[in-house]
Amino acid sequence: KPALFLGNRYESTAAASEASAPPVQKYEYQAEVSRLMDLIVNSLYSNKEVFLRELISNASDALDKLRFLSVTQPDLMKEAADLDIRIQTDKDNGIITITDTGIGMTQQELVDCLGTIAQSGTAKFLKALKDSKDAGGDNNLIGQFGVGFYSAFLVAERVAVSTKSPKSDKQYVWEGEANSSSYSIREETDPEKFIPRGTRLTLYLKRDEKGFAHPERIQKLVKNYSQFVSFPIYTWQEKG
Ligand code: ADP
Ligand code: MG
Repeated sequence: KPALFLGNRYESTAAASEASAPPVQKYEYQAEVSRLMDLIVNSLYSNKEVFLRELISNASDALDKLRFLSVTQPDLMKEAADLDIRIQTDKDNGIITITDTGIGMTQQELVDCLGTIAQSGTAKFLKALKDSKDAGGDNNLIGQFGVGFYSAFLVAERVAVSTKSPKSDKQYVWEGEANSSSYSIREETDPEKFIPRGTRLTLYLKRDEKGFAHPERIQKLVKNYSQFVSFPIYTWQEKG
């Protein structure tokens, strides 16, 4: 049987197609996340381009974590030696993919990180939002606080996060939609989608936001927002 060499994983292409597809598990967002998603999806917030800054900063954080851990665990580097961020655009289909070779996420980490609000920035945002509502005000809190990963839904109707942690020998896919209170997680089984380590985000842009899937637009945003990121950021366009 032909075998593909995938970093430190061997998968038989024949076995992959013969095996029945692993189950797709559905999860409900934590109530705070649902609130936040609602706000992001339905807000009239006009500075939607901040999504790229947020997602690049997550990629950069993931690369930082890997670099830090690899000081004492050099083996972590072996699946992919390069630490970088790659942004690919498909303007015909309105799709952006952002790939990093960072620390990735296990299945449990996907649930903990992308289904609940564990981190302080978003909690602060929700508190500020409540305070501003109490004070009868409305403002640009999304831009001020940065709403992290969920800002992807400023521009995307569907987001897929395919991720491979060195702690797991499996790659998992998280998928969420703009107007849904649930998300799903399944194992990645398509060998063409395997990554050696790290995370690939695929943004399926809303009809009105497909203009972001142009390399020139992305390059401009990268220049404006992410010039201090300490890892290389490559951008290119899918051949039509
Ligand atoms: P924050 O970056 O402030 O923690 P986010 O909403 O931006 O909040 O991200 C939530 C969490 O999801 C991150 O803390 C991280 O654990 C995880 N995460 C997001 N993007 C990535 C990525 N590209 N690689 C690894 N983990 C990620
Ligand atoms: Mg973040």
